Amino acid sequence: MRREHRTGLQSLPTGSARSARSAFLLALFLVLLLALLVVPAAVPSGTASAAVVSGAADGDGWFRKATARAVRAHERARARVDRLREADARPPKIEAAEERRMAIRAGLWDLLWAVERNVGDPVAVDPSGRAGHCPVPTRSHAQQHQRHQRSPKKKTRTMQRTKPRTLKTPQDLKKPQTVQVPQATQVPKTPQTPHRPWTAPTRGYWLSAGFAAQGSRWAHRHTGQDFAVGAGTPVYAVGPGTVRATTCGDGFGNQVVVRHPDGYFTQYAHLSHIDVRKGGHVSAGQRIGLSGATGNVTGPHLHFEVRITPYMGSAVPPLPWLRRKDVQVIH
Ligand SMILES: [Zn+2]
Repeated sequence: MRREHRTGLQSLPTGSARSARSAFLLALFLVLLLALLVVPAAVPSGTASAAVVSGAADGDGWFRKATARAVRAHERARARVDRLREADARPPKIEAAEERRMAIRAGLWDLLWAVERNVGDPVAVDPSGRAGHCPVPTRSHAQQHQRHQRSPKKKTRTMQRTKPRTLKTPQDLKKPQTVQVPQATQVPKTPQTPHRPWTAPTRGYWLSAGFAAQGSRWAHRHTGQDFAVGAGTPVYAVGPGTVRATTCGDGFGNQVVVRHPDGYFTQYAHLSHIDVRKGGHVSAGQRIGLSGATGNVTGPHLHFEVRITPYMGSAVPPLPWLRRKDVQVIH
């Protein structure tokens, strides 16, 4: 009975049913396209880990071309969505453009994930043999760190507030005690609620290797922007987001990947210290670690990437992306 009912509906396709069918066909096409692209990569899985460690799998042939094509298509689709929004286009038109962008991103995500699966945890493929000895804070360390940071702040706040008030007049003694309670609970929240502006990932830098630069350190082209800073310089989250990953042991050394609300990811690599934990929330300008020289480097610097997915191989030019967030990086 149910089937008959369904076929009855299909024989009279409504607008939504037609669009659902075309979406299904598009998804089917993408799956087939992915299968064609991914299967050749999955075949030499025995050697894939070693190849990815040396950077060869990321930098070679069809894979590099396919990912680069998808990244460009995504950026064109994103630019179209932006243009439509600015021009106040009809909502269905914007939605369709956004759906197209999401479909390209999903395809790229699947493609990269298929290869990333062979790489595994970067710690586990550490070629230097330092696996398991990365200075990423553990859960207990991070909590202790937070506790240490919080407790003295609270003390100083109450000290600062109670002292001048009690000293003013004896009449004020009662009032501050009642006022103080809501203030103490509100103070930590209010600085976080206003929209903090996006920021550069570090300060006091000069720009060294740029995006797509060629060099012996990279299998193909440089996938991010390097900020030359001394070791131990604070590194900040450029915008609000969630910590997607903190890893170490591969060519990027200690790294943090943050997911932003617009769906883009930023990566901060070669750190000497990581302040944040996976899953934690970060705000714009929040310190997430210290610069360093871990991983495949010739000296201390911050390697900063903007990606469509959390994975290597989906990077977009980072400086124009920051400019769109009103962040001017000084050359
Ligand atoms: Zn770099």
